[in-house]
Amino acid sequence: MSIVENGKVVIMHYTLKNEAGEVLDSSEGAEPMPYLHGAANIVEGLENALTGVPVGEKRDVVVSPEEGYGLREGPGAQEVPRSQFPEDVELMPGMGFHAQGDNGQMMVVYIDRVDENSVWIDGNHPLAGATLYFSVEIVGVRDPSDEELAHGHPHGIDGSASH
Ligand code: ZN
Repeated sequence: MSIVENGKVVIMHYTLKNEAGEVLDSSEGAEPMPYLHGAANIVEGLENALTGVPVGEKRDVVVSPEEGYGLREGPGAQEVPRSQFPEDVELMPGMGFHAQGDNGQMMVVYIDRVDENSVWIDGNHPLAGATLYFSVEIVGVRDPSDEELAHGHPHGIDGSASH
């Protein structure tokens, strides 16, 4: 019997809810999501909880902020003039992008909110500080290709997707 273990591509259906029970993200009604187990493709708490789960089984997993998207840190959202962003890019709350920090290091920042003249950006992931409520069904487990293993992520459900 196939089980979820390190180095395997796992294909799962998932629904993510917040503490209030609102659905934040879900694969229901769409293709299941593949990820490479043990490669930090998904949040740590969920990855740990799925280790050893057989194909076909379901799990409800509660993930703390520490094992999810981290605790909220720093001063909160900072205002940046809209003019610093390309005009042809639609800016949406929750979008993440790479930016250069004060010391020249690359970091990921997220858009908190947008108005006509300003964009508020935050180094915290939108789900930082949140407890995550996952419902997961393991649909399949397969071996990765050499390329997928080298990249550290799957190329689609059957490994044939390009990027
Ligand atoms: Zn790749």
